[in-house]
Amino acid sequence: MATYPALGPHPHAAAPSRERLTDRHGRRMTDLRISITDRCNYKCVYCRTGNEGAVYADLPIADYLRMARVFVSLGIEKIRLTGGEPLLRRELPELLRELSVLRTLDGMPLDLALTTNGHLLEEMAEPLRAAGLTRITVSMDAVDADKFARITRVPGSYQRVLNGIRAAKRAGLDPVKVNCVLLRGFNEDQIVEFARFSRDEGVIVRFIEFMPLEEDRLWTPASVVSLREITTALSSFRPLVPLAPNAASETAVRYTFDDGLGEMGIIAPVTQAFCGHCSRVRLTSDGKIRTCLFSQSDHDLYGVLQRGGSDDDLAAFIRRTVDQKEARHHIGEPGFLKPSRSMVHIGG
Ligand code: SAM
Repeated sequence: MATYPALGPHPHAAAPSRERLTDRHGRRMTDLRISITDRCNYKCVYCRTGNEGAVYADLPIADYLRMARVFVSLGIEKIRLTGGEPLLRRELPELLRELSVLRTLDGMPLDLALTTNGHLLEEMAEPLRAAGLTRITVSMDAVDADKFARITRVPGSYQRVLNGIRAAKRAGLDPVKVNCVLLRGFNEDQIVEFARFSRDEGVIVRFIEFMPLEEDRLWTPASVVSLREITTALSSFRPLVPLAPNAASETAVRYTFDDGLGEMGIIAPVTQAFCGHCSRVRLTSDGKIRTCLFSQSDHDLYGVLQRGGSDDDLAAFIRRTVDQKEARHHIGEPGFLKPSRSMVHIGG
């Protein structure tokens, strides 16, 4: 098993700052997403061209850990590990184990989350739970095996992901969320099927509006299946009952049905943008900070580390970068520019 630098005071430990990480628009950053690889074993048609592989480097796990620790010293309270496909990094349980002993500025354990395509989850669910993960999000864009394989371009993928979801439930990960990106002409016929899936499998389903973040050029405003369409489709199955948001920065509009069975959320970054209360900052697999999914550039935090910067230097760089966070995205507006990286190379 790999070993990592002991936690506790780092030789250059940044003293926890009383001033928590905030941007110039007054938004406090509490949520960090770390991509630990931009490799992926799926080639989902709406995400990847199918010709391009990994583009950026993976870093040693200890380096993600060091940067994460500095972020936490500035007020980050939630860390989501993602990719690419994070389960391709075999050191993932060790990273989780180390992250799970970190404490927020208020002395609480971090809220640790993971997004995965679920292909390797059946065998990994138990080790992830044992390493300190308590909940998980699995991406799944159809509950029809043939349709799913056409989307992922991997034969047999549906059964593997379904097995992974069930293994996650058995391992006690709670909640298990299933993320479904809806694209017109691809899978909007799956909305009601996913409602049934939520009820039958005891998982929370999140429908996500398609954003212009693909490697290819697929996105058009017409390709987006909007929140309104989704609620209309769900209501045709059974009467919908709104659920209260979990927190102010909650991105999903949540529903159950009249009998209380099943939970569905809709994340609508295109038709109901939530930039005004964005609390997120992202670290790419090669150690660059991205202040918005739609940023035109990234900020080389890893460069500071490689040049021998102390934790105070890293903290100062993070503060300067986050201060410049974009006020909002401009999806669908005239002059919109695609971001400098696609989703798989940022970390969703
Ligand atoms: N491989 C992991 C997975 O499949 O969950 C993590 C990375 S993946 C890029 C993270 C999430 O981004 C997935 O749920 C995927 O469906 C979503 N995603 C990818 N491209 C997207 C797009 N253009 N718009 C909205 N969501 C997208």
